[in-house]
Amino acid sequence: MEAILQFFETIPSSYRTILLASGILVFWILEGAVPLFRFSYRRYRHLGLNLVFTFTTLVVNLSLAFLTVMAADYVQGQQFGIWFLFTIPLWASVIIAVLVLDLIGAWFVHIVEHKVKWMWKFHLIHHTDTTVDVTTALRHHPGESVFRAAFTIAAVVVAGAPIAVVFIYQTASALFSQFNHANINLPRGMDRFLSYLIVTPHMHKVHHHYVQPLTDTNYGNIFSIWDRVFQTFTEVDDVSKLTYGIDTHMAESENDDVVNLLSIPFQPYRAPKGSKFPSEDSSTSPHSAGKA
Ligand SMILES: [Zn+2]
Repeated sequence: MEAILQFFETIPSSYRTILLASGILVFWILEGAVPLFRFSYRRYRHLGLNLVFTFTTLVVNLSLAFLTVMAADYVQGQQFGIWFLFTIPLWASVIIAVLVLDLIGAWFVHIVEHKVKWMWKFHLIHHTDTTVDVTTALRHHPGESVFRAAFTIAAVVVAGAPIAVVFIYQTASALFSQFNHANINLPRGMDRFLSYLIVTPHMHKVHHHYVQPLTDTNYGNIFSIWDRVFQTFTEVDDVSKLTYGIDTHMAESENDDVVNLLSIPFQPYRAPKGSKFPSEDSSTSPHSAGKA
């Protein structure tokens, strides 16, 4: 375990990039071999669009990475956080830290993005994808990347995690996101079995159904246990009946255009059916607030 931590502590960012690019390539090939849906889409155009968002996410993450490193150094220096609470074997500390990072840095920020209207308008871009595949994992508005980074920093402080563990978590988190977005058809039994511990492709696809209430379920990224513990877990027997996208932005002219997608957070809010929030104009008449 010490050797693994040492490796990750000094891992060059080129290695991490290669790891993530290999993940995309492996799932991309698997999607061709065992697809869940047979989309009739322009796969390379779709890839190109989502790569634009990968680039903006990378820019945000690289510019904020020093804050994460500072947070990890600080908590380790101060011996602050869950890492220092128990005297347990190193491997157990690493697992607990990764669990806490996944809870706050992925599950919690995600449910907050679904419950807070202005954050939803940023996160919505991820949900506008009507053909979910491995590249959807990379499709996040740069504004969303900022508040995801903020929650990850908070998670590092609570966990008291050393930077090596943060790097392990971030690598696992990116690979799991590729895995659970990939358009691959795992055998149903295997998918269900794995979903007791981790977020599987079937489980996460439910979250990408275009209407409520399924949109507001299955928020997890690495571990499925958070959705089970907090009762946001849902299972759909026939995944092929799902329709991807978000009901407010199903027009291709809107969900397939980079400039429009980047500007959605600054456009007027649209209430999804089975509304998440009262519609925009009801804010002027609070007594009429209700389902839009
Ligand atoms: Zn979501």
